[in-house]
Amino acid sequence: MSETIFSRIIAGQIPCHRVYEDVHVLSFLDISPLAPGHTLVIPKEPARTLDELSEESAAALGRVLPRICRAVKQVTGCAAYNLLQNNEAAAHQAVFHVHFHIIPKPDEVRGLGLRWNPGKLGNEAAELARALSEAVSR
Ligand code: AMP
Repeated sequence: MSETIFSRIIAGQIPCHRVYEDVHVLSFLDISPLAPGHTLVIPKEPARTLDELSEESAAALGRVLPRICRAVKQVTGCAAYNLLQNNEAAAHQAVFHVHFHIIPKPDEVRGLGLRWNPGKLGNEAAELARALSEAVSR
């Protein structure tokens, strides 16, 4: 995988405001926060998108995410927050190294804004679930 700003942060070539670090995971403040306390959580493994990540790194992220969320809640005093994880440019990924955003939602204006255009699950549901289920177990 090619070098990214996050791989350079992991390598210590670029500074960050570190929140948490272990063997597999690094967490630091987002440089352009959507709200105070906007925090990024990344695997040290160089994976572009979440689906490329090893189970070991994924497990390490899953283990620590709730803890970092609790810290963000406690320190910002903000009970509401979103987790965001973008994959590929079409889905708003700008840094091509897996990362989770923890974004406090202190009010209507700050934090994550969402446009949510729900459809309706129709006749395709059974076949879709079957195909996905088969793909998951492969
Ligand atoms: P995404 O659109 O999901 O790829 O988000 C990338 C995030 O990385 C953005 O929220 C940026 O503000 C953040 N970011 C980019 N460079 C840095 C940096 N050097 N330190 C901290 N956060 C950064």
